[in-house]
Amino acid sequence: MSQSLSRSPLPRTTSSQVPDVELQGLLKTFGPDVAVKGLDLTISKGEFFSILGPSGCGKTTTLRMIAGFDDPTDGALLIQGQSMAQVPAHRRPVNTVFQNYALFDHMSAWDNVAFGLRVKRVGKGEVRSHVGEALKLVRMEGFAQKYPKQLSGGQRQRIALARALVNRPAVMLLDEPLGALDLKLRKQMQLELANLHQRLGITFIMVTHDQEEALSLSDRIAVMRDGQIEQVGSPSEIYEQPQTAFVADFIGETNLFSGQVHANGSGLPQVATPSGLQIQVAESLTHGPVDVSIRPEKIDLSPQAPIRADNCFQGLVRHTMYLGTHVHCVVELTTGDRLMVLQPNQAKHLPDSKMPVYVSWAAADCRALVT
Ligand code: ATP
Repeated sequence: MSQSLSRSPLPRTTSSQVPDVELQGLLKTFGPDVAVKGLDLTISKGEFFSILGPSGCGKTTTLRMIAGFDDPTDGALLIQGQSMAQVPAHRRPVNTVFQNYALFDHMSAWDNVAFGLRVKRVGKGEVRSHVGEALKLVRMEGFAQKYPKQLSGGQRQRIALARALVNRPAVMLLDEPLGALDLKLRKQMQLELANLHQRLGITFIMVTHDQEEALSLSDRIAVMRDGQIEQVGSPSEIYEQPQTAFVADFIGETNLFSGQVHANGSGLPQVATPSGLQIQVAESLTHGPVDVSIRPEKIDLSPQAPIRADNCFQGLVRHTMYLGTHVHCVVELTTGDRLMVLQPNQAKHLPDSKMPVYVSWAAADCRALVT
């Protein structure tokens, strides 16, 4: 497969130390509404960076400002060290792939991909070779003469990718690129995106509300909420060390308990919940309100009390859901609290509803998040 698109013809005057994209206090208001509240972000060359968050948190607006489709109300945006303040969308070294593909229905796949080059009055020979390369890169050489309506969703999205890549951007902007695909195709296209990113070595910035997609594809993720960034980190940092209850809850499934920290002399600090649980945590906290987050897969469930556990509570299985590789259980503790537990499907006897059980977990496996 051709790799020559990775050699961008854009003059690269920047050194590898200069970030590809920098947002400095980027602000966007629509009338009285503040959609993006002063974002600071630095994205390195070659990173796969995802912006993740619930609907309406400002992800697309941020991407549109990078693309040049929306002007920031305040703040600065730099691409490869250059201010984009006076640079219109079509002159920026970026290309955007949209969820709805935005292909021209009356043009063949080939013409869709060639469109941007023709507008730029690129010579015929060059158009032919660049379009051919771009189609090859997304494995669509055999579909060049088909019209969008004759293609499947995944094929259309590949053409949309080829159309963005043919311009040889330094930065690819992906706005929910796989959002319109069914689950199986989405998984397949995720692999293709990862593959493409690896081969091209250019910066990808992807907006998504699918946390699994962000975790599996990204080098780093920014979790946004209400126009602000809650946390930026690698997928494992975001998942294992969430800094806020919002991030813990938004990324994956978690159990959250609000309580007060009590320093416990020489032992681990404990968090007392209003229901009466005493949860040992590993953070060095002395007092104050916290939310404790425990992931369902970090909890052990057994019919007998474990010999040793930092945290161990009795309860009754209230609900089980068979998931094939795992069993998802809801356990009601004697305090009335409910816990979600994810058990690998190794046990000969899977937990039944109404079964009395012990749930246990290590202090190091839960996070106390200061509220
Ligand atoms: P989604 O996942 O639903 O696409 P998002 O995180 O991408 O959401 P944005 O589209 O960036 O969110 O919108 C952020 C906020 O800005 C929302 O409250 C939205 O209503 C508002 N907004 C976005 N574009 C405009 C516009 N052109 N005019 C007025 N308000 C807008």
